[in-house]
Amino acid sequence: MIDIPQKIHYKILCTLAEIDPYSLHFESEALSHGAIGLMGTIFLIWGLRPDGSFWKFDASSGLPLTPLEPECEIPALRIGTERYAWLSDLIPRRPWHTKDCSGCDGTGWAVRTGIIVLRTDGQGGVCDQCRGKGW
Ligand SMILES: [Zn+2]
Repeated sequence: MIDIPQKIHYKILCTLAEIDPYSLHFESEALSHGAIGLMGTIFLIWGLRPDGSFWKFDASSGLPLTPLEPECEIPALRIGTERYAWLSDLIPRRPWHTKDCSGCDGTGWAVRTGIIVLRTDGQGGVCDQCRGKGW
């Protein structure tokens, strides 16, 4: 669970209001849990609720609504920026005294090796060295 600034809270609520609840897309299942869909695969969906709580679920594979492991929250946000760029505001900024991650040059995305979550286009994914933070 993370603290959600009011601006992002409203963006999540507005996004939820625009999702078609009858779509077969993973976002409609996320909506049924009051969450925006950050990532969806054939066996797992990650979602974020407006209160800052992260969840995983997937009806087709029988995974019930379950809190997402805390170590997966930043990777979930990083992969979620593919759909909602404004989620990057929730990823902790690098402190001035810390160096950029050498695995991703500070982007949070790795191209070849060291990937924990694949991008939707299959070209790289969330850096496993920094888990998507970039530092
Ligand atoms: Zn990295």
